[in-house]
Amino acid sequence: MALLRLHRHPGALFMNRPNSLEHFWMPFSANRDFKQDPRLIVSAEGMYYTSEDGRQIMDATAGLWCVNAGHRDPRITAALLRQIDSLDYAPSFNFSHPAAFELSARIAAQFPEPMNRVFYTNSGSESVDSALKIALAYHAARKDGTRTRLIGRERGYHGAGFGGISVGGIVRNRMKFGTLLTGVDHLRHTHDLARNAFSRGTPEHGAELADDLERLVALHDASTIAAVIVEPMAGSAGVLLPPKGYLQRLRAICDKYGILLIFDEVITAFGRLGTATAAEYFGVTPDIICCAKGLTSGVIPMGAVVVRDEIYETITGTSETPIELFHGYTYSAHPMATAAALGALDAYEQDDMYGNVSAVALPWEEMLHGLRDCPNVIDIRNLGLVGAIELAPRDGAPGARGTEAMRRAWDLGAMIRVTGDIIALSPPLIIQPDQIAELGELLRQVLSSLR
Ligand code: PMP
Repeated sequence: MALLRLHRHPGALFMNRPNSLEHFWMPFSANRDFKQDPRLIVSAEGMYYTSEDGRQIMDATAGLWCVNAGHRDPRITAALLRQIDSLDYAPSFNFSHPAAFELSARIAAQFPEPMNRVFYTNSGSESVDSALKIALAYHAARKDGTRTRLIGRERGYHGAGFGGISVGGIVRNRMKFGTLLTGVDHLRHTHDLARNAFSRGTPEHGAELADDLERLVALHDASTIAAVIVEPMAGSAGVLLPPKGYLQRLRAICDKYGILLIFDEVITAFGRLGTATAAEYFGVTPDIICCAKGLTSGVIPMGAVVVRDEIYETITGTSETPIELFHGYTYSAHPMATAAALGALDAYEQDDMYGNVSAVALPWEEMLHGLRDCPNVIDIRNLGLVGAIELAPRDGAPGARGTEAMRRAWDLGAMIRVTGDIIALSPPLIIQPDQIAELGELLRQVLSSLR
């Protein structure tokens, strides 16, 4: 039986108890593999984790794309301590607490006009399911109830709920889980290495792929289509960037046919591209935005769905029953999550963390593209404070090179994330040029050492 080595760290919990690795079924993980050689983290500060064996590990992924303010930002910690001392829980079904309204106003102020109404969830997956339900409820409220079809995109990731995996387009997330939602179709993905490899920022070629929506309209008829959901920048499938003009074109086609456009900004909202939202970055305003992750800088689980005024007004204004939307969660607008979010928004604003993304964007891009000469590199992509290094798969073993890179980086002192043979990078928004250089050196060592 594998035992945790927690005794090495004096502050560790369960210090005096034998602690088996057997019982925690880790999500989206190679459990058997991990338990042979566990990577355990015991504390964190700013840009760095401390591993169980006392090493400093640079967080080159902001956890799972979420710790935007860096670890243990004192403003978030203080907000949580104040909160737990006054109000631990309050329901949001027909009761609420003042901070929930304050947070909603703060989010609305950051999001594009007229996206001013905020519905709370506890995760990105819940934000996606809520957004899909809101889209359907909107059409029903307008007596346009034949609009029920939902359109996602190949290689899209929209969380792990049944709604999210149905509109999502990553085969392994879908293939063993039954028939999923019916009435769902998918646009073609936008990843085109033949035309766009080593682009800096958004790629030049592929705006016309948005016209794939015309194909689906011709196939199903617009009167049956409720909404299209896309990540403005697809993260989990390995950082797939929208070609220049693609999102504008998708917006125009949605407008032409009365189809709602949902942006899944679970990764991009709250500064990842140097702006509050990708919608602002690309100058394209959707009808609904899903967010989570950076909303609380990952400290407490929380998500939100932000909608145009008209969607809220239509659903609440036409309802025949007092409760307009039969949807919500026990922990929607949980006081602790609300406090963490207010602390995170304070941190982003006070230190101009979105501004830092723009300030370091050039050294970030230069560092990444400087790795082009490393072995096996077939593409490098960057946007805002996101990066990807795509490696050629090893013969007969797709994904092996990626896994090896992840392990090697951990041994050398960085947490990176891999999807197959694509390395994804998304450090906290507080990263400084010297840390970018440090990461570049480490990545060069990793890439040079892969079989
Ligand atoms: N949508 C997108 C675009 C995501 O990147 C993620 C998480 N990586 C989710 C939804 C799901 O979020 P969660 O894991 O919080 O449910």
